[in-house]
Amino acid sequence: VVGGNLAAPLAGDGTPGTTGRTARAVNLDYAASAPALQAVADHVAEVLPYYASVHRGAGYASQVSTALYESARQTVGAFVGARPGDLTIFTRNTTDALNLLAASVPQDGPGAGEVIVLDVEHHANLLPWTSGAHRLIPTAATVAETVAALEAALAERPAALVAVTGCSNVTGEILPVAEIARIAHAHGARIVVDGAQLVPHRRVDIAALDIDYLAFSGHKLYAPFGSGVLIGRSDWLDVAPPHQLGGGAVRAVNAEGRATWTTGVARHEGGTPNVLGAAALAAACRAIAELPEGAIEEHEAALSERLLEGLESIPQVRVLRAWSDSTERVGVVGFTVEGHEAARVAVYLSAEHGVGVRDGKFCAHPLLNRLGVTGGALRASLGLGSRSEDAERLVHAVRTLVTEGEKLSYEQIDGAWTP
Ligand code: PMP
Repeated sequence: VVGGNLAAPLAGDGTPGTTGRTARAVNLDYAASAPALQAVADHVAEVLPYYASVHRGAGYASQVSTALYESARQTVGAFVGARPGDLTIFTRNTTDALNLLAASVPQDGPGAGEVIVLDVEHHANLLPWTSGAHRLIPTAATVAETVAALEAALAERPAALVAVTGCSNVTGEILPVAEIARIAHAHGARIVVDGAQLVPHRRVDIAALDIDYLAFSGHKLYAPFGSGVLIGRSDWLDVAPPHQLGGGAVRAVNAEGRATWTTGVARHEGGTPNVLGAAALAAACRAIAELPEGAIEEHEAALSERLLEGLESIPQVRVLRAWSDSTERVGVVGFTVEGHEAARVAVYLSAEHGVGVRDGKFCAHPLLNRLGVTGGALRASLGLGSRSEDAERLVHAVRTLVTEGEKLSYEQIDGAWTP
């Protein structure tokens, strides 16, 4: 199922129009944001007329909107195997979800609010933790040693929570979250998984993996911007400071303006919620759940192989890996090109070959520093609309760059930055 079938449900591949030089602009930046599925666009168009504020409204439109919002919650929770009693809290994105959880870690009891975090993380799963009590574990050369270092840290002193990514946004490598969950639980800690990159590429089941919390973003899961979720155990969240102080989060407010807060999802969803965003995210979950089992993995495996083999066959290219023993990865490939500055390569690829990749440090500075990447790197990432010719175009473009050099002058490249 390379290309064709899986690309069919897409509204577009995120690359409308032409570049003038090539017939089709190639989008290899799914890891940043993935273009909406056709099913998502259709669903949003269908529910748009029922635009009304949720809850507390007796009118028909408000009832429809409330039902839509609450059924979206059910759908998204079920999509990732939420347990009965887990809260599915709608947030703006993964960053918002992890900040919410960070404010919810109990400061007393075992571990006394301390969080253990790896240095491979995206800043969204690093900075919310490092601003509080934390232990930052330097990632070892192998996954096995890294997991052993986590376990040693937990054995040395209890922690409340272990925060890990399911999949690196720089290298696409997958971490063994079920194993880490088992270790965390054995030492009385909980685990939160940053699923921003994992959920779009793999079926994730909270109950089966036995993880306590999962966060992810709609815009990386083929839904538009502005909706994400934090899903997980209710006890910490029910007594945590409300994420947004305001309407909907309270049980009552007295004459002095002091509130008693409600529990459950409403505690953290103060203000009028993003109903269409939630509905869009649910539509994306439904569409993905309908794909045959393993279809995403199969589609991406074939393309990633082409991409990796092609890039690795170019001597000047270094494909980034955080661990030497990692075996599982998704279609996210970070790389550098010796002798070529990443930002210039990205512009060259776009301007000369119509290939869109991302460059920079991907909000993962500690990892890139550890890998010795000082000036930034490039990242090509695949998704449902990717085709084998996309991988081939990128490989061809990089090979052309290293053999023939940039055709563009510095002035032309600088000019290409103009939006
Ligand atoms: N974690 C990872 C692994 C990511 O790749 C990203 C997005 N680049 C985030 C967290 C943050 O996601 P968002 O910007 O949607 O909050």
